Amino acid sequence: MNRNEERWMKNVREVTPYVPGEQPQKSKMIKLNTNENPYPPCPGVRDILDHVNAADFRLYPDPDAKALVQALARYHGVSEESVFVGVGSDDVLSMAFLTFFASDQPVLFPDITYSFYPVWAKVYQIPYRCPKLDENFQIVTEDYCQDEKIGGIVLANPNAPTSRSMPVKEIQKILEAHPEVVVIVDEAYVDFGGETALPLVDQYSNLLVVRTYSKSRSMAGIRIGYAIGNPKLMDCLRGVKESVNSYTMNQLSIPLGVASLEDEDYFQKQVRTIVETREKAKEELTNRGFQVLDSHTNFLFVKHEKKCAEEIFHELRQRDIFVRFFKKERISDYLRITVGTDEEMLTLYRALDEIL
Ligand SMILES: *Cc1c(COP(=O)(O)O)cnc(C)c1O
Repeated sequence: MNRNEERWMKNVREVTPYVPGEQPQKSKMIKLNTNENPYPPCPGVRDILDHVNAADFRLYPDPDAKALVQALARYHGVSEESVFVGVGSDDVLSMAFLTFFASDQPVLFPDITYSFYPVWAKVYQIPYRCPKLDENFQIVTEDYCQDEKIGGIVLANPNAPTSRSMPVKEIQKILEAHPEVVVIVDEAYVDFGGETALPLVDQYSNLLVVRTYSKSRSMAGIRIGYAIGNPKLMDCLRGVKESVNSYTMNQLSIPLGVASLEDEDYFQKQVRTIVETREKAKEELTNRGFQVLDSHTNFLFVKHEKKCAEEIFHELRQRDIFVRFFKKERISDYLRITVGTDEEMLTLYRALDEIL
């Protein structure tokens, strides 16, 4: 830093950002590194695009994204006042951190979880503490039920990158222990076999459940996420959101998000396919010397008995097969592998047979 930069830098907010998995722009690659869905969204999504009139783009979108909010309310059997939508669940979670974690007590989330949580805490200057997952990478419920002053709780269930899930009755214990703070449950992967906390929303007014279109709905590129919770919570969330950006949901994302909800058969079938491929992959990887954690997500968290994760990661990368490696305490022996198509997984196994 030169002298002039030093003068103004002390008045600037400087944060270390979240680092998303790489998005290599290659035509021929196997991309198993950011938990995207290998299948396209339902045909109804395609149909909407066939009827887009670019002239409509001159107008602002509906600031309330009402059509999408209504469709989500209907889909989940909740009131419209209980639904909040955003630009992917990252946007929803970021707004929720800003809205609900306004105390000077620490917010709790596990030491190993979605690595965006500490980044939002830092950028919004929210104190936080990270209870350790146990040696099987499970959340220890008691750590979140202590009689202590805290500012809130965030849990991903199923958790990433561990792929493990916790029973909702454990979350209920946490809600009982801490009625004085908001508890956020990030259900990005719940459709692949987790247990949803949504039925608890009526009973616990401090519970916020967050969902995304990016994984099970194959629409990461369109950026839709949402939250469901008590209407009072949602009022607060909307108050903050409307103080930051009125028009979060763009004109196309609204009908595309509605269309995805209208084809339940397609959705269920595709999720089932991924779960089947995942279970097959678990077997194939186990046969190749990997220890594979039980997964309720669209990815597997694996550790090889002999070869180190970073080496496997690089050797796969040389073959244009991208998986995720985290150079972090406690998990640097592991790889996170997204479940792709059956064909992609076969290519992965063949590559592993060469490497190992
Ligand atoms: C992928 C993911 C998200 C973010 O999803 P977007 O809706 O694409 O922003 C949030 N939480 C977890 C745990 C995730 O894995």
